[in-house]
Amino acid sequence: MALNTAQNELAKQFRSLHIPGQPIVLTNVYDAATASFIANHPTTKAIATASFAIAASQGIPDNDLTLSQNMTTSRSIANVLKVDGLPRLPLSVDVQDGYENISETIKEVIGLGAVGCNIEDFDNRKEQMRSLPDAVNRIELAVQTARELSVPDFVINARTDILSYGGSVEDAIERGKEFLKAGAHTVFVWGPGGRGVSTEEVKKLVAGLDGRLNVKLVIKDGYLTIPQLKEIGVARISMGPELYRAAMRAYEETANKETSLPAFLPVENPTEPFWRTELHQHDELRTTPELLGHSDIVIIGGGYTGVSVAYHLLKQLSASAKPSPTITILEARQICSGATGRNGGHLRPDLYGNIPKYIDRYGVEAAVELVDFEISHIKALKEVIAEEQIDCDFHLTRNMSVYLNEADGEKARKVYEALVSKGLGYTADIHYTPQKYAETISGVKGAKACISSTAGTLWPYKLVLGLLSKITSSPLVNVQTFTPVTSVTSQDGLQIVHTPRGSIRTSKVVYATNAYTRGLLPQYSTNIVPCRGICCHITVPEGKDAPFLPYSYIVRSDSGDGQSYLITRPDGSIIVGGAQYTFFDEKEHWYNVIDDSTLIEPAKNYYNDFMQRTFRGWEGSGAYVKEIWTGIMGYSYDTAPHIGEVPGQPGKFICAGYDGHGMPVIFLAAKGLADIVMNGRSFENAHLPRIFKTTSERIQRAADGPEGGDILA
Ligand SMILES: Cc1cc2nc3c(=O)[nH]c(=O)nc-3n(C[C@H](O)[C@H](O)[C@H](O)COP(=O)(O)OP(=O)(O)OC[C@H]3O[C@@H](n4cnc5c(N)ncnc54)[C@H](O)[C@@H]3O)c2cc1C
Repeated sequence: MALNTAQNELAKQFRSLHIPGQPIVLTNVYDAATASFIANHPTTKAIATASFAIAASQGIPDNDLTLSQNMTTSRSIANVLKVDGLPRLPLSVDVQDGYENISETIKEVIGLGAVGCNIEDFDNRKEQMRSLPDAVNRIELAVQTARELSVPDFVINARTDILSYGGSVEDAIERGKEFLKAGAHTVFVWGPGGRGVSTEEVKKLVAGLDGRLNVKLVIKDGYLTIPQLKEIGVARISMGPELYRAAMRAYEETANKETSLPAFLPVENPTEPFWRTELHQHDELRTTPELLGHSDIVIIGGGYTGVSVAYHLLKQLSASAKPSPTITILEARQICSGATGRNGGHLRPDLYGNIPKYIDRYGVEAAVELVDFEISHIKALKEVIAEEQIDCDFHLTRNMSVYLNEADGEKARKVYEALVSKGLGYTADIHYTPQKYAETISGVKGAKACISSTAGTLWPYKLVLGLLSKITSSPLVNVQTFTPVTSVTSQDGLQIVHTPRGSIRTSKVVYATNAYTRGLLPQYSTNIVPCRGICCHITVPEGKDAPFLPYSYIVRSDSGDGQSYLITRPDGSIIVGGAQYTFFDEKEHWYNVIDDSTLIEPAKNYYNDFMQRTFRGWEGSGAYVKEIWTGIMGYSYDTAPHIGEVPGQPGKFICAGYDGHGMPVIFLAAKGLADIVMNGRSFENAHLPRIFKTTSERIQRAADGPEGGDILA
């Protein structure tokens, strides 16, 4: 075939721009508009696409982007670059892992007029790293195809993801060298979880690959800058999806600023939970008719978190001799009208559910630290309720987790035994009952196994309003209900908290906004996802006595794919919720949903005869659902909450994302955060589980990873 002269000349030109120490900087584009902007920039020498951003702008996760979807956008980008039908700048296309047939992919790319591409060594379909021979073979095929199509100088940037899958820098160098031998022009080394690659790693890679290295720029404080990367000697720097993300942030911020309210505010007419049937006098508290123009600390959110933070700030204040800061709580609706006023009232430390996952991810020490933290809530809450004389129906009990499915029960036994075999002291509180007595011990029909541990039950609204009432007499505390925060901006080193009722200047903002956090801190939008849950209050007809239930419960479904959580109230009535498995597959009912004004259709009748179906002795009880409601939880991408100073934003603090499990987490998390906010304590010294620390790595991992992370897994 005759040499495709014009295209190959452009390929040569692109090749020549990869000079170690004088790298080509590629400001990756993802549609015709961004391509047009970058192409018309006087400093642009070449254009490269970013598949993550192309996928995101089509509303799909990176790994789901097909060759045809990728090519549709790449074609529109290629067209922007053409003058009189000929490309005026070299174009490199991100073809992810090269898709199934690498030769076909290269044909498509060259057909667009492109002169280079990225190929990854992670197999997106099998979700595993390719063996080195397989990955090398694919590079060779790509090179050969380009040659056959008369573009022998086609530039292949071979990406290795080995660092993200347990490999070392040495492994990356080994792979890179083989890719270069196979005909790749440069090697792109991708840092795990979006953390980028460190200075030491880049230095080793440059040395090992003779500078033929591509790295992704991370636009954040503390990461390597373009001049630093130049100095170390890389040949190519890509922005990847960084510009797309920056554009989306700007888009969201402007949209929020220009419209009167941000998208993620609590709705105005929520369903009515049982817990809000006996309202406290402070339910709609406004300490002053107008907002204060200035407050030292502003807490956004008046749920369990916001009120607990304020409570601990005041407590720590009275114990210190420091000048007293003023504290304002701003709440969009009434106090405790969010998840806290709509939950299951279950104070149940997790001793085994997520613990194996945490042990795998962070090690035994970190997991045990978390368990101990949750367990200590029982004592801490019992004490504060007694000390402050808060009437909130607190009751200490055993939680009975019941398995209706044999395999599920067997799995639970293995987890329990594995934890015991690790010698973890807290497992002494766990008791496993096998099938023989599971039904008679638990009272749950058809139980195949059960596990019990210490737990508490309470009226969450009364706890929170009780705590609030202990601090409202302080002249330092100002509470403003029905005051939604629409944005927070910075000016002269201060934060300006904007609401429709005016603004407050402050130096410290605490985001106690849980599920709604992304409305004000968009960088958390993939980390803390609002997820709707359903809960109800079941009682028996007047004049009847509810059959006795000795425990609080988690009842796993007999299909083994879901559960209900249940507590018995002192009057014998029941609070029960969950049933997520009845709607899990229909994401529109629950995932990324902030509407707690309606019920969840597939689950709304699930609890109608739940007690009769589930428990021995309830068959003739006449039990019925008296109140039913929905609430919005802040599910976390990696299960753990985010606590601490918001990375890169001094003066902003977050305490949110409890994954529907805040009761045994929040009170002491708020105590730790108060210490950080008030006393400048470091996270590490604030008695908080290390897993909870909010970090840019965690934020980035969620942004880069598959949609939903643990939430949809
Ligand atoms: C149905 C359901 C059942 C649950 N069951 C349990 C359980 O049994 N056990 C358990 O441990 N956990 C349970 N949870 C989770 C638990 O309720 C939460 O983890 C906890 O209540 C979170 O407290 P919070 O104060 O952080 O959030 P919330 O109580 O939601 O408070 C956040 C507050 O911030 C306000 N807000 C948000 N944005 C703004 C803004 N821009 N301006 C001003 N105000 C704003 C909201 O109006 C809200 O009042 C359940 C949750 C739900 C929904």
